[in-house]
Amino acid sequence: MPVTPFHMGPAALIKAALRNKFSISIFSFSQVLIDLQLLFAMLGADIELHGISHTLIGATFIAIISFSLGKPICQSLLKYWNHSLALSAKNLLFAQEFISWKVAIFSAFIGTYSHLLFDSFMHADLEVFYPLQINNPLLGLISISNLHISFAIAGLVGTIIYFLSQYFIQKRN
Ligand SMILES: [Zn+2]
Repeated sequence: MPVTPFHMGPAALIKAALRNKFSISIFSFSQVLIDLQLLFAMLGADIELHGISHTLIGATFIAIISFSLGKPICQSLLKYWNHSLALSAKNLLFAQEFISWKVAIFSAFIGTYSHLLFDSFMHADLEVFYPLQINNPLLGLISISNLHISFAIAGLVGTIIYFLSQYFIQKRN
């Protein structure tokens, strides 16, 4: 399934641990970009399912696009998000609008490289090291359902930790 929400599970854990040093919006943006080829292929375009977008070369290129385009786009979206928050939800759901280049670059590369890593467990057609022909040792190591359950748990735990710490930080200030 293109643009699967499961990749967001580990991202929630990273966000809970790194807070403002990690941008979950840039990460999400990179998840959409890297699966665009798959989406077009599923819509009937005459291209490979994962192909070049799911190689180290492609993921590097997509990470560069993700932080260059993603920084201004995500900052505008976050600004809009903060403005549309109800006053009662402001403390808990307020998101930092400014994303530094350092955070944008870091989050984009974590986004595309972790995407390759997790997809490697699931998809037989991935050629991560293209043009080198190296067998994928991760394929089938964990069943897809176990992988999805772990991602869902990571997402739940990460979200709870994030909002709990957000609550205590707001309370302290
Ligand atoms: Zn993918």
